[in-house]
Amino acid sequence: MLRIIIVVSMFLFAATVPAAAQFLGGRMPYGAFDKLDHTEIKVDGSTLVVGIAPGKLALSRGEIVAWVKKSAEAVITYYHRFPTARTRVLIVPVSGARISGQAFGHRGAAIRLRVGRNATAADLARDWVMVHEMIHLAFPMLNRRHDWLAEGLAVYIESVARVRAGHLDQATIWTDFVEAMPRGLPGPGDRGLDNTPTWGRTYWGGALFCLLADIEIRKRTRNEMGLEHALRKMLSVANHESFSAIETAIETADIGTGKTVLMELYKAHRDTAIDVDLDALWAELGVRMEDGAAVLDGSAPLAEIREAIFTAES
Ligand SMILES: [Zn+2]
Repeated sequence: MLRIIIVVSMFLFAATVPAAAQFLGGRMPYGAFDKLDHTEIKVDGSTLVVGIAPGKLALSRGEIVAWVKKSAEAVITYYHRFPTARTRVLIVPVSGARISGQAFGHRGAAIRLRVGRNATAADLARDWVMVHEMIHLAFPMLNRRHDWLAEGLAVYIESVARVRAGHLDQATIWTDFVEAMPRGLPGPGDRGLDNTPTWGRTYWGGALFCLLADIEIRKRTRNEMGLEHALRKMLSVANHESFSAIETAIETADIGTGKTVLMELYKAHRDTAIDVDLDALWAELGVRMEDGAAVLDGSAPLAEIREAIFTAES
């Protein structure tokens, strides 16, 4: 009898533990995902296929599907299309209440979100991770040393897109930017964005690069074009399902504005530590902090550019 119990429990162990673990490895588990029950969401000609791995979640499938759809709509507000035609969205229940994510492209566009089993609708309402991962789908995969551009775009565009979609107000984003952007400045021994793979330089150094590019494109086009025109051009040629050399991607993106802002900035920042006077930049943009929150000034020299960054065109 004991022997039978041991055999049965070993069988259960073999059947359940790898089944859960297979959704949490370093790679997207395409095969296991395809065997899950799916909910298909159609957005603007694209299909998002949502699958939820086994495990407990406080959130319902309906709440998760609505969150995916709302996030996709923010991305479409910015790019005027969803980046990929068919996208697998895998939700993996994990302990706690946090949400974290990863985007994949090598075997077809995919996003994996680890969602804490205690996460609630309120957590989804303020979540930025889903939009961040969807933004990754809009740019080709790059060599690891250029992670700063991939992450910078995701951090910066996620913020802009959510304001444009009406999910957040601009002052909330500037409060975050003013607090976090200093982490993106070069520290001692910095050798430029391509050669300094620290967390701060990768995420916030990359985001600052994108903000500087957006402002410069607008300065050179009388505020008629912005970073989105460069990124839409890139997306018309390739998305995250293909790999690109960074120079090719940047050249392609620059075609979208008819300027060479991205290449000039890349050449300046790639192997040189360039300090940016953030206090002066915030003053020019008309952003000042009062009691820990950003207050916006419409009469500042670059206020029109700041407004245009956060305004969706019709
Ligand atoms: Zn990312």
